[in-house]
Parts: sequence; structure tokens; C-alpha cells
Amino acid sequence: MSIQVFGLPVSRGVAIGRAVLVASSRVDVAHYYVEPGMIEAEVRRLRRARDLVVDELTALKGDVPEDAHDELVALLDVHLMLLQDETLSEATRQWIVERHYNAEWALSSQLEVIARQFDEMEDEYLRERKGDLEQVVERVITALGRLGGGDGELGSDMPPHGQRDFAGEDPLILVANDIAPADMLKFRRSVFTGFVTDVGGRNSHTAIVARSMDIPAVVGAREASRIVTQDDWIIIDGDAGVVIVNPSPIVLEEYRFRQRQVELERARLDRLRHTPAVTLDGHPIELLANIELPSDAQAVLDAGAVGVGLFRSEFLFMNRVGHLPGEEEQYEAYSKVVKALAGLPVTIRTVDIGADKQLDRAPQQMERNDHNLNPALGLRAIRWSLSEPEMFGEQLRAILRASVHGKVRLLVPMVAQLREVRLLLEAIDRAKAQLRARAQPYLDVAIGAMIEVPAAALVLPSLLKYFDFVSIGTNDLIQYTLAIDRADEAVSHLYDPWHPAVLRLIAQTITTANAHGKDVCVCGEMAGDPAFTELLLGMGLRSFSMHPTQVSSIKKRILRVDASIWSKHVDLVCEAEDPQAIYARLQTAVPERRG
Ligand code: PEP
Ligand code: MG
Repeated sequence: MSIQVFGLPVSRGVAIGRAVLVASSRVDVAHYYVEPGMIEAEVRRLRRARDLVVDELTALKGDVPEDAHDELVALLDVHLMLLQDETLSEATRQWIVERHYNAEWALSSQLEVIARQFDEMEDEYLRERKGDLEQVVERVITALGRLGGGDGELGSDMPPHGQRDFAGEDPLILVANDIAPADMLKFRRSVFTGFVTDVGGRNSHTAIVARSMDIPAVVGAREASRIVTQDDWIIIDGDAGVVIVNPSPIVLEEYRFRQRQVELERARLDRLRHTPAVTLDGHPIELLANIELPSDAQAVLDAGAVGVGLFRSEFLFMNRVGHLPGEEEQYEAYSKVVKALAGLPVTIRTVDIGADKQLDRAPQQMERNDHNLNPALGLRAIRWSLSEPEMFGEQLRAILRASVHGKVRLLVPMVAQLREVRLLLEAIDRAKAQLRARAQPYLDVAIGAMIEVPAAALVLPSLLKYFDFVSIGTNDLIQYTLAIDRADEAVSHLYDPWHPAVLRLIAQTITTANAHGKDVCVCGEMAGDPAFTELLLGMGLRSFSMHPTQVSSIKKRILRVDASIWSKHVDLVCEAEDPQAIYARLQTAVPERRG
């Protein structure tokens, strides 16, 4: 039977494929296809890992102390039984043989299937055996890691033996309760052609990374991971935020048609890549790109963006076991982007750790952050950096050093207090002095503040004395103005970029920066949303930064806008009780060039 599940649309387009259900804790398992010639070897690898665990558990049984003997031996016997049960071993083998999944993926797929059967059991004792099963699978996955031969770690861009489009395979869609932004990053260029999660807000960092991958995604679909079963056919409608489980042939055909339409539109937009972005009344508009990793640099150039407006450097700090990237590693990473951009500006944002972006296996001082009652209001971004002077010094020196390879701009997240600004400037001076002492070259880089806390927007004239430019982080500005956690789907209906308070803060920031002769950019998700293009141009914005995949559609919009006409309507929109309604009415009234 076909079922529809509703969530929040976060990344546009249509994906059709088979569901791969992944428990949140197992999202970090490697997912790749095994070449047909390697199937038997992969089955052997699985068998060897299982045998290793059998040996391990048998040895443990022998070492059980007398006083806990009976209970522990009984438990280990249950584990051994589960391990050797056909429902686990034979079915896992089938995932490998029939679907060509790697052993870890096959195991976690089968775990999902059996775990559901356990959930449905009436007998409480049997239901509780699910935990034992999870532990057994965990042990086998660890043993597979020890045996090697698999990807083991998903940090690499490409799986070792597989490609995204393995001949003859059905497209796959990942369904999970939740995916952390760091895990999402690991799925780039992976086998998945779409994502569905039960939780998450439209502008959570998980959603942002999904958008940057330009594959359809729906978050906050609440019950999705419970309703969908392993291997179901599903459709993701990334425009409407709908997931259709087991669609009828007619619905499937309709969506296949829409998929082709989306592809055609993309091909049409591609032709605008090298066209300069200029409004109808002649204002050149700077279209920059947001990136997460150095490997994104090529996508920036391919999209026809004229620089990087936001390099979210914190993604270099995620998925790290134990140690964070030091000065040299960061210098290499930043230099790679700066060199690739060959003189185009690269705006490197200092780490924005905290809230929904947590570090992996954090050292002690970072754990402080995890325990904050309200991490979005806690030790995040510049606050965290200033509390870690050594780490911050390394990052500042790495950014300054990279400046000799091109045009670097340094951007600081979540600035709110002048006290922080003074400490920041001191830290930059210290970093420069250290480089001079080491005789390492650097250039003076422009320093910018992200305006993403209402307090910063309200004291902007004071801040502008210390900064060369500002960049408006609308994602957080909305969160902090409206007191809505951007990652919480329970309040996502109140996360409203059209709220007059938000629009007034944005308009005021752009006007003030322009009046002071300072560059101002919008690098939050509003910049890449065509619904706001005319309004932002009317407010006087001349620089936008967005996912590379959004550049062409925003350019298409800009080419048809007369900014001077829209500048006359800004006050009317911002002062309205329902700005969205007024804006929509104006959009039908203002003539645009058809093209
Ligand atoms: C923002 O807040 O709008 C922004 C661009 O930063 P991030 O999404 O990384 O918090
Ligand atoms: Mg932000």
C-alpha cells in the first residue's frame, strides 16, 4: 500500500529509489558497492569477521570469574547464538551477493530488518534481546574494521571499490532518524541519491549540507524511519517535502516525468554559467559560493561563482578522532582553495563549532560544550575560539599564511560584543607577530564579522569601526531573533524568514554597511533562495553567497530584476504585518523581462 509521509523540504528535486534504513548510531558505517568479481571475497571477509567474534566470545566465556559465572555465561551464549543464527548470517550474505553491498552495510541493513521484528514481539524478554543483537553486530563491524579490506572510514570522498552509479543497481535513498552534519558530509559522492530524516529543521546544518550536495532531501519527516522498511521503493519530493512509500505505477510515472523536467531545467541554467550577473538597471552583482571542504573549490569555479563567500572551516575539524587539524594541515587546506580560486576572493570563516555542529570524540575542553543546557546560546563560534587561544592562534596563523597565495578574507562568526572584538583583534595581532618572529610571510587580509545575532545588527555602526566587511548569516539571525532552534522540527513552522523583525534587521544592516562604505554580503540560505532575490536587491544588497548549485538560478533571477524599482517597495514590505503577502502581490505587479 502506498503511504505519504510529510516533512520539511530542504533540497529540491525528485529522487526515486530503494530505501536504505540506517540506525543513527550506524550512519558512520561505510556504504559502497562491491565489484562483481569481489563478491566472494567480501562474503569470506564477513565470515572471517564473524569467526573472529565467535573466538573472542568463546575466550571470554572461559575467563568469566566464578562469582558472576552463570549469568555472564548465559549472556555470552545468547550472543553466540545470535551470531550464528541464519536470520543474521545468511540474510547478510544475501545483501552482499544480490545487492553487492559491502559487508558492513549488509550487516547494518539486516540489523534494521531484525530489530523491527524484535520491536514487534509480545514477549518482553525477547524484545529486550534487540540490545544483544546490536552489540553482536557492533562486534562484527569492529572485527571487519580490524580485518581491513573495506573503506572503514567514510571520511574519504570515494568508496574504495564502488562508484555512485554501479551498473544495474537501483538508486538508493538513505532513511534515518537523524544524521549529524559531520556524518552528512561523509555521504558526499556516496551511493545515495536522496535523504530522509525523522528530525531536523530546514536550516539545520544537516539540511544545509544536503542542499550543498544538490540531491533531494526531506527532514523532520517524524515517522519516516518507522514507516519505511528496508528496501521499499520510495519517492522523495524535495520541493514539497513529501516522501511517498511504495508508490503506485501512475504516481511513479508522474514523478519520473518531473525528474526529467528538473534535469532539463538544470541543463538550461548551466548555459548561464559564464554570463555576468547584472541587474536590468545595470548593477553588477557579486555571486559567491559557500563551501565546506577544500575539495569543493572546483564546484565553485564550475558554477561560475566569482569567489568563495563562506568557507565553513569547522568541517575540517569534524570527523576527527582524537586530534584536531593543526596549523600546517589547515594552512595546506586553505592554500589549496586559495590557489584553485586563482586570485578570486576566498572568505575563510574561523571555526563555528557548537550548537548542532559538534566535534567528534572531543577532547576534554570541548566536552564542556556538549553539556551546555542550550548549546545554540552557549560556547559557540567566536566564543569557543576565544576560549581556546592556542587552537585559535593556529587557525589564524594558517589563514594569514594562506593569504600569500591569492586573495584571502577572514570572517568571524557570531560576533555580538565589542569585548569579543577587542580580544579577536588582539589575537590576530598576536598571530601576525608570531609569523613575523618566524619570518613566515603573510599579507594583510580583510577582516569581517558575521551579522547573525540581533545585537550585532543593532550596534553595527560601532562594529564597523573595527571590521572591513560584514556578512549576514540569515540562518542564525532568524534563529536568534525569533528564539527558534533552527535544528528543531517541533518549532520549524515558526522559523520564519519573512518575519518583519528579521527583514528589518537585514535591511538595516545592508543600509548601514552601504552608508559606511563597507562591503556587505548575505551568506545564509536566503541568499540562494530565489524567493528573496528581488527584495534583497531592493534593500541594496550587491553580494550574495550560496551553494554553488544555486548560483545559476539566482543569476537568472537577477538578470530580470530592476533593483531601482524594488528599492522603492522595501519599506512597504518590511513594515507590513504580513510581508510575504505584500511581496507576492508586488511580484505580480512589477513588470519583469521575460526571457
Ligand atoms: C548563517 O547563520 O546564516 C550562516 C551562514 O552560518 P551557518 O549556517 O554556518 O551557521
Ligand atoms: Mg551562522
